[in-house]
Formats: sequence, structure tokens, C-alpha cells
Amino acid sequence: MTKYNLFSVNADAKTSKGNGDKYLTAIQYLAPARQVSGVNLCPMAQTAGCEKACLYSAGRGRFSNVQAARIRKTMLWRDNRALFLEKLEQDIDKFAAYCRKRALSPAIRLNGTSDIRFERFGIMQNFPGVQFYDYTKDVSRAYKTLPDNYHLTLSYSEANDEYAERVAMAVADTGRNMAVVFRDRHNIPATFRGFPVLDGDKDDLRFLDKPGHVVALYAKGDAKRDKTGFVVG
Ligand code: SF4
Repeated sequence: MTKYNLFSVNADAKTSKGNGDKYLTAIQYLAPARQVSGVNLCPMAQTAGCEKACLYSAGRGRFSNVQAARIRKTMLWRDNRALFLEKLEQDIDKFAAYCRKRALSPAIRLNGTSDIRFERFGIMQNFPGVQFYDYTKDVSRAYKTLPDNYHLTLSYSEANDEYAERVAMAVADTGRNMAVVFRDRHNIPATFRGFPVLDGDKDDLRFLDKPGHVVALYAKGDAKRDKTGFVVG
């Protein structure tokens, strides 16, 4: 099995759903927000009110060895950025080669549990043959010009009314999509806040979604009991 410095490939239930005939997905999980002292990987987490509802500890993240690995990687990001980026580029190279051999297209989500602007470090630009994608709570990113091979979906939350308004406005302004987590998968509206809704649960390949849509996701596990406003309905 190929070993990676930073990536999880087909190791998480959510990830494996992205593995269609064509795409293989890799996800990088770090310790989000202010889990590691001296660094904040989610600058908008407080505004969006999402720290409590964060899926950080969902799935494999509930295991202490998995959490320790995420903390180690985050400390590397904090303490030796150059080495972190070197390891990251090694992983991307390795993953792209692995996919090439199997006639698969690589799709990489660098912010599995973080909200870092990796495009500022030229990562996407250095790998034009790789599709990158992320969800973000940072609305200002929706208005930026991103590398062609980087797709961003905004992440909606009603934990803060002003934040919810800003996300909806950014969808109207930019045509980007917003992901909304609904509590009841059997009660998904056809439109939400005036935007048509598409099913985002069949895979994680957000870059294939039609623009200007709400991407419906469904609450699972502990998230079903969320009262922060992240889960809607
Ligand atoms: S921005 Fe995302 S990863 Fe960061 S704390 Fe909020 S939900 Fe978690």
C-alpha cells in the first residue's frame, strides 16, 4: 500500500464515496481551528460558529492515534512550513503517479478539516494536471480568482445570521455553490434560499457540480443532534 506523509486515500467513508470509475480522491486532515496552540487553521471558524459542530472528531477522527497524527502534521505546518510544503508536494506527486498508472484522475482535498489558502503557496499552480477542491467557511475566498484546477464550495451555517446572509449573497454574486447540511435526508427542499438544490451525498466530487446550486448533504452520526445552526431543518 502506498504510504503518504500527509494524505488519507480511500481511508475514510466520506472519501471513498468520491472514488467513482474515474476519480480517486485524497484528503488531507489537519487539526482544525485552534486545536494546536499558536496557529489557527480556520480563520473564520468563530464568525461561522462552526468549531463545535466541526466534523473533526467524526469517523476515524474519534481515535486518539488519528487525532495525534493530525496534531503532529499541524505542528509541522506551524513550526517548519518549508518542510511541510515539501512533504505535501511529495504526496501530490506520489498520488498523481498512483492514479496515472491506474488510468484514474487524481482529485485532492487539502482542507479536509482546515481552511488554509494553499493557492497562496502555489500548490495548485505547481500541479496543473491534478484537480483540487475544498469546502470553505471563508466567504471572501468566493470572490477571489482561483487557479483553474481549484474548485471551492462555500459551507453554509446558521450559527450566525450575518454569516448565513453573506454566504447566500456570495452564491448570488459569484455563482459558486454552497453546501448545506440538512437534518432529515427525506425532507430536502427543491430550492433553498432561492437556489436550486442538488444531491451532494452520492459522491464528494464537488468540482463536477453545476454552479449556482445548493449542495445538499445529510447529517450523520452525532451531527444529527447538532443545535449550533450548522445542521438545518
Ligand atoms: S472551518 Fe471547517 S474544519 Fe474549521 S472548525 Fe469550521 S467546520 Fe471545522
